[in-house]
Amino acid sequence: MRKQQNKGDVKGDFIKFLGTGGARVVVSKQIRSSAGNWLYLSGVNLFLDPGPGALVKCWSSRPALDPATLEAIVLSHRHLDHSGDMNALTEAMTEAGFKKRGLVFLPLDALNKEPVLFGYLRNVVEGVELLEPGKSYKIGDLVFTTPVGHLHPVETYGFVFHLPWGKIAWITDTLFFPELIDYYQGDLLILNVPRLEGGGPPHIQHLCLADAELLIREIKPRAAILTHFGMTMLRARPWELAAQLSDRTGVKVIAARDGMTVSLPEVLEE
Ligand SMILES: [Zn+2]
Repeated sequence: MRKQQNKGDVKGDFIKFLGTGGARVVVSKQIRSSAGNWLYLSGVNLFLDPGPGALVKCWSSRPALDPATLEAIVLSHRHLDHSGDMNALTEAMTEAGFKKRGLVFLPLDALNKEPVLFGYLRNVVEGVELLEPGKSYKIGDLVFTTPVGHLHPVETYGFVFHLPWGKIAWITDTLFFPELIDYYQGDLLILNVPRLEGGGPPHIQHLCLADAELLIREIKPRAAILTHFGMTMLRARPWELAAQLSDRTGVKVIAARDGMTVSLPEVLEE
């Protein structure tokens, strides 16, 4: 039998943003947490991008989130701010390695040279599945797809979660490209937006605020959430930027905060 996350408290779908920081300076100084995200969708607990601090944040959350109730850990790409706690959380998912359970989903380049998942843990989990462009994956009753490989220095995917009430499209780290609009149609659009301004060094392949605005205008979700903020976004006060985006686009735009829980699909209605 599947473990209930909160005993006696049957919850609907939710996303808890344990950490909303991204990029090197914010992560190194923990100006915002880099812990990543806990999702409970269609009865499945999964963790997306366990960056540094993920395991600690699970247990320091109120109510605490027990990693031994996770069915899966999903990694968008191997960069440290997404994968730093990959091993710690995988071991916790397997009840300190004593129980063969849980799935890990990750790109191939997170497993080959310089793997971000230790070899011994690959045998402790129930399965390791490789993310590939255009593929669909199933965890219990939950289906998600990885529509396209992103423009990012390492192999990177975003996600579309297919739920009875609609779709969540999550655009993780990437340089903007116009096809994102077709690939990430969703009722709820979540965007990793580390940068306030575009441009910058060519190896920085991230969305900026103007990219986020364009994506929100074109995709027209019922609500949008911005997260994974770098220094330039944090200095500009993401909550004010989100309010301005809401005014300009007519779409409800929310700036994620550390520890924020979003109830689904309620957030689309409020
Ligand atoms: Zn990255």
